Order: sequence, then structure tokens, then C-alpha cells
Amino acid sequence: MAAGADTGFSTRQVHAGAATAQASPRATPIYLTAGFTFSDLDESAAHFGEGTGFGYSRTGNPTVHAVEERLASLEGGDQAVLVSSGQAAVTVALLALAGAGDHVVVSEHIYEGTRGLLLDNLARLGVETTFVDTDDLDAWRAAITPRTRALFAETLSNARNDVLDVAAVAVIGAEHGIPLVVDSTFTTPYLLRPIEHGAAVVVHSASKFLAGQGAVLGGVIVDDGRFDAAASGHRFAHLVQTDRLGGASYAEKYGARARGQYIRESVAPRFGPSPSPLNAFLIGQGIETLSLRVERQSQNALAVARWLEQRPEVERVDYIGLDSHPHHGLGERYLTRGFGSVFTVTLRGGLEAARHVVQSVEVITHMTHLGDVRSLVLHPQSTSHAARTVAERERAGVFPGTIRLSVGIEDIDDLLADLEQALLGVPVLERETVVL
Ligand SMILES: *Cc1c(COP(=O)(O)O)cnc(C)c1O
Repeated sequence: MAAGADTGFSTRQVHAGAATAQASPRATPIYLTAGFTFSDLDESAAHFGEGTGFGYSRTGNPTVHAVEERLASLEGGDQAVLVSSGQAAVTVALLALAGAGDHVVVSEHIYEGTRGLLLDNLARLGVETTFVDTDDLDAWRAAITPRTRALFAETLSNARNDVLDVAAVAVIGAEHGIPLVVDSTFTTPYLLRPIEHGAAVVVHSASKFLAGQGAVLGGVIVDDGRFDAAASGHRFAHLVQTDRLGGASYAEKYGARARGQYIRESVAPRFGPSPSPLNAFLIGQGIETLSLRVERQSQNALAVARWLEQRPEVERVDYIGLDSHPHHGLGERYLTRGFGSVFTVTLRGGLEAARHVVQSVEVITHMTHLGDVRSLVLHPQSTSHAARTVAERERAGVFPGTIRLSVGIEDIDDLLADLEQALLGVPVLERETVVL
């Protein structure tokens, strides 16, 4: 069966990208090979000239390609490029847009690896970053300069679970011919498809929900295929100028697909974070159950968040699915199938209460990672957010007593029982004596 764009999400997650020729293997084979044979000189010349067929796994591999097709379909994008990690996906996306002397505007609430990439690595390469308050549309607008090449944000922030108003920020970028790049790791294409709301490029850490089993790393960049040379060409000379040998530009060769093709042909294979075909296979297997897992994880997370909100040991629960979250209304607008499963809980007993809980859980695993089928817990202040100042941490909703949960697919009664036993021994403080 060919899964056309008119079929539903769950149908496409198992069929898109799969071979349809007669007697093809139903599971995508793992093409674990560095390269592919050429049948004659013309075929090798065509591969190097026009990029037809498969030649070498860094530039293309059938297993990788099948997963790319599936992800492009699920995101509603034009094409996807699979890479070796989420960090590689963010790096490749930004290097495809910005170079020395350029500038990007970025939400202040982003993954620490991306923040370090911008502050240390891209800064050293001459790409400057302005961080803005995600909610402040005037700040996004005011930060744009003639050198700005991208707006960047995450759909759901870690730790405070703030929701990005994708459409509003995308419009600001579009007014200036600047693409919005969205890291949608926390929401997955099942909960939110940023391209439908105007984002130009979507990236994911496929290590998280997409793979789902916590066994492999991977990342993906999805391009919308809507590059407009007339509106954006002045910001992206590398897409509209003749190539190094005086040949046609990417825009001349590929039109609206120029940016996606540049990512695929130039940036990803040259910087080289190629995915292993074996990892690509496992990510493809994971995606086949994405909707089922995310639905169950969202249901479990809502039940856990509601239960925790009632506990006397708990000061606050920052979960977008709760009415008490300041972005709940925005969340309902963007997340119609569930609110995700990664959020924070702040305990009244401060650091010692958090230490007690992360060291007492038995069903829930104490580790860094998220989007796994298993429930996980981590203490952000001493780990993911350790490189930030106290003021920066508090703005992100991270206090000494904050723990982050990534809720899995276990039976809800077992999760609640585990949290209940882990909370035993945590002091129940009166409001006045709360030490966050
Ligand atoms: C994990 C993560 C990344 C980095 O992905 P890796 O696969 O670990 O390299 C980037 N962004 C977000 C939001 C993440 O959670």
C-alpha cells in the first residue's frame, strides 16, 4: 500500500517510505554498507553529476532514505535529512543558514546543548546570537538585524513547559524573509507539526520520542520546501548565487526546494554527521508506534501531574496540560492530541527533598534522557541547568527542589505508587518555611 498524503498519521507512520514494488521485504532492510556498486561509467558519472542513485552511505543510503521519507510525510514537510544525533540536526540546520558575520535570534529557554553550541562554538565561527523572551513578540521583532539569518525556538520549553506561539513568531520572520527553525523534540509530529503553522525548518532529536526505546541516537532536519528566492535571496547568497564552478545556483536548480537540497547535498555530507543505517532502522521501527506511545505517555503524564499537584510535599507542577499553567490556553490551541510527557515538579523541601525522591524511585529510572518508553527522573539544577546562573535558572522554572519527569508507558497505578513511596520521608513544610 502506498501511504498518500491524504491518509491519517497512524497509517503513514507505518507505511510512508516503505517499498511498494512487488515482493519487496515488508520490513525495511538494513543496508549496512559503506557504498554501492556502479554498473557502468555512465552510472557513476550520473551519480556524481546529478546525484542520481546511491553511491556512498554518507550521501545517501536506502535504509536512511526510507526513514527520511516517513518523517517528511509525518511532519507535512517537503524533505527530511537524517543525521547522527539531535545535536547534529541543530548544528546542520543553523550552519545551512548562517556563516561568519551573521546573526540568529533565539528563545532563551532552549536545550543546554544548543545554548552551548550558540554561545561557544558558533560564536567562535562568527555567528552572533541574541536571546529573547519566547513570549515577547516585540523582542523577537526588535532583535532582527540586516544580518539575521534565522529565528530559533523549541515548541515546548524545558523546564517550564512554555508553548511557542509558532504562527506568531513565523510571521515575524516571514516579514523579513527569515526562516523560523523549530526544535520540536518535546512535541513530536504527532502532537504538533510546526510547518503547518508557518515554520520553515523543523529539527528533532530522534534519540527521544521518535526512536522511543532509548537504544540509539539520531536527529532529523525537515525542510518545508517553500524557499522563496525573491523574498529571501538577499539574506541567503549561498542559495541564489552561481556555485563555485560558475554553475547554476541552488535556487535555479531546485526552486522552492533550494534550502532543503543545500542541507542534503552540501551541509550534512560535508560536516559529516551521517547516521548509521542500523540506527536509522531502529528509529524507523520506533516511529511505527509513535502515535500509540505519545498518546499513552500524554495520558499518564496528565494523571501524574494532577496527582502531584494535590500533594502537600509539592509547591508547583509546571505541566502544560494543567489548567494552572499560564500557557494552558495556548497549549490547547496547538496541542490537540495530548500535552506531551516531560515536565517539572518543584518540591517544598528544596534540594534535600529532590535528592530523596531521585534516589528513592524504583519503577522510575534516575537518568538523563527523555521520551523513553520508561519513566525517567532528573534533577535539573545540578545537571541540565548547572551551567546557568541562579537568576537564569529561576526564569526557566528551575529551583533546588525541582525535578524533571519524562513519563513513560507503564501502568499508571505503578507510577503513582512509586512516586508515593518516594515522597515518604520528604518533609511536608508549612508555606512560610518553604525552601524551594
Ligand atoms: C536531547 C535534545 C537535543 C539533542 O539531541 P541528541 O540526540 O541528544 O544529540 C536537542 N534538543 C532537545 C530539545 C533535546 O531534548
